[in-house]
Amino acid sequence: MPQHDLIVIGGGPGGYVAAIRAAQLGLNVACVEREAALGGTCLRVGCIPSKALLESSARFSEIRGALPEHGIRVGQVELDLPAMLRRKDQIVATNVKGIEALFRKHRVARYTGHARLAGPGRVVVTPGGPTPRPPAGSAATLELEARHIILAPGSVSAPLPGVELDYDRIGTSTEALSWTAVPRHLVVIGAGYIGLELGSVWRRLDARVTVLEYLDRILPGTDAEIAAEALKLFKRQGLEFHLGARVTKAWRDGKSDEDLPCVVECEGLPPIRCDRVLLAVGRTPNTADLGLETVGLRLDEKGRIPVDQDFATGTPGVYAIGDAIRGPMLAHKAQEEGVACVERIVTGYGHVNYDAIPAVCYTEPEIAAVGRTEEQLKAEDRAYRVGVFHFRGNGRARALGQIDGRVKVLADAKTDRLLGVHIIGPRAGDLIAEAAVAIEFGASSEDLARCCHAHPTLAETLKEAALAVDGRPIHA
Ligand code: NAD
Repeated sequence: MPQHDLIVIGGGPGGYVAAIRAAQLGLNVACVEREAALGGTCLRVGCIPSKALLESSARFSEIRGALPEHGIRVGQVELDLPAMLRRKDQIVATNVKGIEALFRKHRVARYTGHARLAGPGRVVVTPGGPTPRPPAGSAATLELEARHIILAPGSVSAPLPGVELDYDRIGTSTEALSWTAVPRHLVVIGAGYIGLELGSVWRRLDARVTVLEYLDRILPGTDAEIAAEALKLFKRQGLEFHLGARVTKAWRDGKSDEDLPCVVECEGLPPIRCDRVLLAVGRTPNTADLGLETVGLRLDEKGRIPVDQDFATGTPGVYAIGDAIRGPMLAHKAQEEGVACVERIVTGYGHVNYDAIPAVCYTEPEIAAVGRTEEQLKAEDRAYRVGVFHFRGNGRARALGQIDGRVKVLADAKTDRLLGVHIIGPRAGDLIAEAAVAIEFGASSEDLARCCHAHPTLAETLKEAALAVDGRPIHA
């Protein structure tokens, strides 16, 4: 029976990073992943392929829309969707090879198959996913042993009662990354990150896109002022929204040769006919058939694996990280937890600061945030000051021709400590890194305002918003 110091179940961003860090710290590590490719949802069918398509579709739409403004005239622009999809697949394949190479470099043993706990310190690996699987003990299964086991199984798309997924016309983000024709009319259920990012991709490629959102706002959890500005800008791009719209049913009505073979029913609206439906109403922890009962573990009321601040599950030697535990379902959060978890195991110390985890929505413009929203501060009854600076006051944004959006800085009214930074605007996803570092270092808005920012850069908007907390922005 192969023996390891640590077995990581799941080769996504949380799992593979934990495995590499553990190997760096001298452990004999194995990682079990049931998919042929390492990298998890994020790399195979999530963050990376969606960013590839967002980039390609943004260029397509920019060439048709914004280039004349720059004094550049182009001839007829045509979409080559197969080439766009091939590029995306190549980017994924290259990144997958990169992780395989890192595993070889760090001597992480890789097992392919579905891993299931089989009592303390024991894992059974079955080829071919959870079901159907050969009977336990058959030649095809493999038993592994380790002192430590980290569960990093990730999450899966949440279903919605009444929505009949056929994983083709009516599908999830996985299918929406590979459609071989531009939909005529795409209905997106849910105005979260996935719905808005993938809705944007297909809108830019000329699909009619209707977004149905249950709440009376988009992007739940995002600062409301920023989300309201995003809604205005997305509408300008031609995305159609119905807010306060609860979807009750979606099905393919059998006439598949029709142009619009799907029907979506939503409270308060007439049925909508369309040719594609993207279900994006959240994700749920992927904890099915992990054998948790064999080590006495129970899921919480949201189907998550309960852990303490050290990612320990309560069963000695079993830990869990990433989408399967509490906290935001973000790849970088899982990576931080993976590193902290193994550092805890090996060195006794590891940390994740949940107040300094940025989040980015890669729409146009991008939306990024770190720390508290204004609504959270109000709910916590905290006294705070606000500084806002608009991109239209920034020279670099003007040169880029991207002046929509703002930076909003929230600081403690008494101590001036930074509590939250929210950005909607060009390259917000890159700009937020400065704010995350500032919050991690316990900076005040005055600290941020006193740091020299190169001119002309988009980052000056952060300095200006920090100055605005004290009512002294220069360019507003
Ligand atoms: P989400 O939770 O962000 O948004 C789902 C939306 O669906 C919500 O606004 C919700 O109100 C709405 N909804 C729920 N039931 C509905 C109904 N019956 N009818 C209409 N609307 C309904 O979920 P998501 O966009 O699916 O994303 C899933 C996870 O993946 C999130 O945790 C997200 O953070 C993560 N993710 C992150 C990124 C990124 O970091 N760029 C990108 C994609 C996904």
